[in-house]
Amino acid sequence: MIEITLPDGNHKTFESPLTGLQIAENISPDFARNCVAMKVNEQVVDLTTSVSSSAAIKFITTKDPEATEIMRHSAAHVMAQAVLNLYPDAKLTIGPTVENGYYYDIDMEPISNDDFPKIEAEMKKIVKAKLPFRRKVISKIDAENFFKDEPYKLELISELSDVEISLYEQGNFTDLCRGPHVPHTGFVKAFKLLKVSGAYWRADQKNAQLQRIYGTAYFDKKELKAYLTFLEEAKKRNHRKIGMALDLYSFHEEAPGMAFFHPKGMVIWNELLDYWRYEHRKAGYVETKTPIMLNRSLWERSGHWDNYRENMYVSTIDDVDYSIKPMNCPGGMLLFGMKPHSYRELPLRVGEIGLVHRHELSGVLNGLFRVRAFHQDDAHIFMTEDQICDEILGVIRLVEKVYSTFGLTFHLELSTKPEKSIGSEEDWNKTTKGLQEALEKYGTPYRINEGDGAFYGPKIDIHIKDALKRTWQCGTIQLDMSLPERFDLTYIEPNNERKRPIMIHRVIYGSIERFLGILVEHYAGKFPLWLAPVQVILMSLNDDLIPFTKEIQDQLERKNIRTEIDGRSENLKKKVRDAQLNQIPLIVTLGNKEKENNTVSVRRLDGHVSYGVPLDHFIEAVGLHIAQRKLEMDLFQ
Ligand SMILES: [Zn+2]
Ligand SMILES: [Zn+2]
Repeated sequence: MIEITLPDGNHKTFESPLTGLQIAENISPDFARNCVAMKVNEQVVDLTTSVSSSAAIKFITTKDPEATEIMRHSAAHVMAQAVLNLYPDAKLTIGPTVENGYYYDIDMEPISNDDFPKIEAEMKKIVKAKLPFRRKVISKIDAENFFKDEPYKLELISELSDVEISLYEQGNFTDLCRGPHVPHTGFVKAFKLLKVSGAYWRADQKNAQLQRIYGTAYFDKKELKAYLTFLEEAKKRNHRKIGMALDLYSFHEEAPGMAFFHPKGMVIWNELLDYWRYEHRKAGYVETKTPIMLNRSLWERSGHWDNYRENMYVSTIDDVDYSIKPMNCPGGMLLFGMKPHSYRELPLRVGEIGLVHRHELSGVLNGLFRVRAFHQDDAHIFMTEDQICDEILGVIRLVEKVYSTFGLTFHLELSTKPEKSIGSEEDWNKTTKGLQEALEKYGTPYRINEGDGAFYGPKIDIHIKDALKRTWQCGTIQLDMSLPERFDLTYIEPNNERKRPIMIHRVIYGSIERFLGILVEHYAGKFPLWLAPVQVILMSLNDDLIPFTKEIQDQLERKNIRTEIDGRSENLKKKVRDAQLNQIPLIVTLGNKEKENNTVSVRRLDGHVSYGVPLDHFIEAVGLHIAQRKLEMDLFQ
C-alpha cells in the first residue's frame, strides 16, 4: 500500500506505484491540468516521476511562484530547440532562469533583435506540438558519448561527480539537465524574446564569445502583456536618458563609472543634502568629514587591506602605500577613538557624507545605479547595550520620515547570524534581540533572512518601492562587533570601568548618486516642486514687458524660488511646449493685463491653468509649498 499525504492533511492510498500526474488526476482532472510539478517529501520533481512508496506530496500548480520558474526554465529548452532547428551548427552551453525570465548562452553566429521573430515562430511550433519533456537517466560514459559533438556539454559533464546523469528530451531535442520541467511544451503559453548580448563562456574574455539570448514567459498572455508594458515604461523612465534630456549629469570615458553633475543636477543634489541635514539635525546627529585618502596601516587595522584590496584604488606617496577610501567607517573610528568618552555622551550619532571609491568591472557599470565613485550618507551610532532598541527604532523612524517625503514606501528585512562569524553567541543573541525588539516596537511586518547577516553582526535592510513597484535596497542598519574591537574603542561606565560601545553603521539614501537615479525614474523626471532644478519659468507676451518680467524674477529669487526667464523670440506655444519638455512645474505667462493688475497666469505641468493670480499670493503659495516639501502639485486649483 502507498499512502500519500496531501498538504491539507488528507490521505490517499494506492495499491501500486503511479506517477504524480496519475495521483493529480485521481484528485480531479481539472486540477491535474494545472499541475506543473510536485514536491515529494520536499523535493521538487517532475509530474512523470513514479511514486513507489508512501510520501507527503504537494502539487505545484500554475498559481505557485515556483511553477513560473520551472516553466521559464522549460521555455529556455524550447528556445534552445528552436535555435538549433534554425541554426544547426549552434553549440549550447547553459540556460538558467533569471529574475523575470531566462536566458541561454549559445555559441553561434551573432544575431540581433531582427532574428527574434523567426526564432519565436519556431518556438510557437514547438509549444503548439505539446511535446512531452521526458527525463532519461544514463551513465556518465553514455552521456559523454551522447554529447560527443557538444564541447560545452562535455565540459559540464566532466565537472559532475554524479555517476548517473539526467537528460531531458522533447521531440528531436535533448539537453543535459537536472530538471524539473513542466509536463509538456504546451505549458509555455505566453513568451517573448527580449534581448541578445555578448557573453563569454565562463565569463572569461579568453573564451569564445557567446550569444546570450534573453526571454521571458508566463502562463497567462495578460501577464506577459503587463510585463512588456512595464518594460516599456521602465525604458521611458531610464535615468540615463532623462538625465541627458534634462541636462542633469553625464558620464565621460575620462572617468568611467564616475558621474559628472551639471548645474541642474547639482540643484537636486544640494536639495537632497539640505533635506538630509535638516532631518538629521532634528534627530540629534552631528556631522563630520574625514579624509578621502588614508595610509595602509589604517586599512590593515580595519581589515580592508587583506579582504577588500582588489576593489580599492591604491597609490604610493613618499614610499608609503595609500588607498582612497572604499568606506567611511575607519576614519569615523579614528575620530571616536581620539579621546575618552563617558557613558553620559552616549548615544553618539555621527554622520558623514563621504565620497568613496570602489573598483567595479567595467561590464557591470550602469549609469548612476552602478558606479565606481559615490557618496554615502553614512552615520555611525555609538551606544550602550541598553540603548540598542531605542536607537534602532529611532533610525527606522528617521528612514520612514525621509522616504515618505519622496513618496516612497518601504519594507524591512532582518538578517541574522551567518555560519562564518566573529563575536560570541551571547553577543549575537543580545544584538539580534535588540534589532528584533526595535522592529516589533515599530510594528509593521518584517521579513527575516536567517543566516544572511554580515560576519561581524546582524543587520536590517530597508527596501523601497518606486512608482513602477520595483524594489530597491537603499537603507541599511548594520550592527558591527568587529570595528570597535579592531580600533579598541571604549567608553567609561558609571563604575569607572572601560567598556566597548555597541556600534552601528547606517545609511538612508545609501549611495546618493544611486538614490538620485532612482528618484529620476520614480518621478519620470517630473520632480516635485521643491526638488525641481527650475521651479518657475517666466515668459512675457511682448518685449515691452521684459522689465516687468525681470522685476518678478527678482521678487521670486529673493524668496529662494528658482526662476528662469524664457526670453527667446519664439512664439508662446513653442515656449510653453519646451518648458513642459523640461518638466518645469510652474509656467508663468505675463501680458499687459497681468502687468496692470499685478497678477500672473500660471500653467502647471499637468496642463491646469489659473488666470489672474495676485502676485503676492503666487509668491507666498509657491514659497510655502517648497518649504513644506510637498509631493502633490495642488497649487492654484
Ligand atoms: Zn532544463
Ligand atoms: Zn560605517
